[in-house]
Amino acid sequence: MNSKLENQINIAGAGPAGLTAAIVLAKYGYKPKVYDMSPCVGHRMNGDFQGLENWSSDKDITMLLKDIGIDINFLCIPYHGGDIYAPRIAPLKIKSERPIFYLVKRGAANNSLDNGLKEQAVCWGGEIVFNRRIESCEGKTIIATGPKRADFIAAGVTFDTGAENLASVLFNDEIAPKGYAYLLINDGFGTMATVIYKDFKNTKKYFKNLVNFFQNEKNIDIKNEKRFGGFGNFFIRDTNAFDKKIYVGESAGFQDYLWGFGLRYAIISGYLAAMSIITGSDYDSLWKKEVKPMLETSLVNRYLIEKFGDFGYSYIAKKFAEGNPCNFLKRNYNLSFLKSFLLPIAKKRYKIYENI
Ligand SMILES: Cc1cc2nc3c(=O)[nH]c(=O)nc-3n(C[C@H](O)[C@H](O)[C@H](O)COP(=O)(O)OP(=O)(O)OC[C@H]3O[C@@H](n4cnc5c(N)ncnc54)[C@H](O)[C@@H]3O)c2cc1C
Repeated sequence: MNSKLENQINIAGAGPAGLTAAIVLAKYGYKPKVYDMSPCVGHRMNGDFQGLENWSSDKDITMLLKDIGIDINFLCIPYHGGDIYAPRIAPLKIKSERPIFYLVKRGAANNSLDNGLKEQAVCWGGEIVFNRRIESCEGKTIIATGPKRADFIAAGVTFDTGAENLASVLFNDEIAPKGYAYLLINDGFGTMATVIYKDFKNTKKYFKNLVNFFQNEKNIDIKNEKRFGGFGNFFIRDTNAFDKKIYVGESAGFQDYLWGFGLRYAIISGYLAAMSIITGSDYDSLWKKEVKPMLETSLVNRYLIEKFGDFGYSYIAKKFAEGNPCNFLKRNYNLSFLKSFLLPIAKKRYKIYENI
């Protein structure tokens, strides 16, 4: 094979996982060619706000992005707190010295995460081909095509508002069964959504309850609303590198089974896939070291939250409000002795291990 073709790496999917892989590969002199079935980046998303979680590692996520070669050329606003609602307790305030998450925008807008990553990939020499769905390619291909099935469903609305910036989280099975709901406002734009893990057929009802709840509680004005929906997928495979394909992001099942914070997984796994190609290292060993312990922890967390119901929601809300929510979350997003012990029970309960 001539060296030009050897250097070309095909990537299916221009989401955060595929674009991160493209940026890293291009920086190392490869020629990534990214195919996306949609007409632009972020098409699966809706201009909504999402949170880049900043609790699962010691290092701030923005530093981590810089370390792996990603510039912050997109809206990325630190949020240090907000309020939280849980059953049978009064709403609580959350405050944290360390940003709990960075608010990012998804979709095709100029300041979105998706567009920022696209600009970087192209600037380093990557090629992006839109409106091209690919299932397989000749040569090594990174598969970054996102979720295949719905393990959770999100139903939300974006809107313009004159309300102040804020972040609110809500645990309530009448609004978000076994999941949570959120309201995020930044600079006159807002996103409200419910993330549902059960009873998908009643999504409309939960969405209605969500809007009623936040309108009553916050009394915010809502203009130019746009409804959106989405879903997330979680599974664990024994291998994610087979048949010349390397699976990253949600197409590899890399997702936070507890609450769906999949962005970090997407970006990190895109980086690991690129590095496995650049250094010739084994991708399975890389993700099993960096990603798998967190995936398994999230499985146990899901088991616990479903088991403890309202008591669990109130417990978490109080812990968040106690003073150091990032520490509390970090402890709970990383595998501990207790969670290793509970893992076999959670595995049996959810049966999310897939064989190829
Ligand atoms: C409503 C909602 C809210 C969320 N909120 C958060 C949050 O606050 N924080 C967080 O961390 N995570 C959040 N997530 C999860 C997060 O968005 C995903 O985990 C993340 O986008 C996964 O990135 P990805 O690159 O793996 O896949 P995607 O972002 O899904 O990108 C996949 C891309 O592949 C393309 N594609 C699919 N099939 C093909 C094909 N055959 N050929 C070519 N192209 C193809 C698609 O068009 C898409 O552009 C949320 C998800 C939803 C739905």
